[in-house]
Amino acid sequence: MRLDKFLCETTELTRSLAKKALHREEVTVEGEVIKNPATQVDDSHDVRWLGERLERVGFRYLMMNKPLGVECTTRPGLYPTVLELIDLPKVERLHPVGRLDVDTTGLVLLTDDGKWSHRVTSPRAKCEKVYLATLAEPLEGEAASIAVENFAKGLWLDGEEEPTRPARLDILAPREARVAITEGKYHQVRRMFAAIGNHVEKLTRESIGPLVLDPELEPGECRMLRSDEIAAF
Ligand code: URA
Repeated sequence: MRLDKFLCETTELTRSLAKKALHREEVTVEGEVIKNPATQVDDSHDVRWLGERLERVGFRYLMMNKPLGVECTTRPGLYPTVLELIDLPKVERLHPVGRLDVDTTGLVLLTDDGKWSHRVTSPRAKCEKVYLATLAEPLEGEAASIAVENFAKGLWLDGEEEPTRPARLDILAPREARVAITEGKYHQVRRMFAAIGNHVEKLTRESIGPLVLDPELEPGECRMLRSDEIAAF
């Protein structure tokens, strides 16, 4: 890759500041001062800025326990973004893998690996996401059995051109249910409960495919994924 791009990926320099650093003869490749930003380098080269060896970190993969009131976006808006909760260099390179509503908590994955992200979110992957919902109205008796059947058959949500894919609904208590879905329509879980005349008061995501939210993570905390977790997709 070009030397100026390499500098941007490994330091806080922007492309134009990287060019200025090169011009000021602050950068060496294999011990030689290089001023040409188009010089080709790779990870095997000894590239230094102001004497310090630069190394690319590779892709990063994280899981976060998203708290309430935080948006799954990379652009600042009405609410703080998930990126603002992460204390890592070049955090702006990360993006959330799929979204949770601002008032939904729980598991969010973040990465700068676009291909990996696509593997997780691609509708064709039919990756299962599991949510725990607290309901406004108790779901009991025959109504509960009908709800389980309707979730399994698929529900027509307002404005959608096809019914939801079969979903698994487990009633854990009259006002608590676990839902597993394999797609990600806008506000899907809330709209599914609205479609059966209920209302979700609290929603939290417990897992995405094989990845389960680490119980050690407090709301707002995140950790890097292990290599086996990354390889699971
Ligand atoms: N379904 C919802 O309604 N909200 C979410 O954040 C995720 C799934």
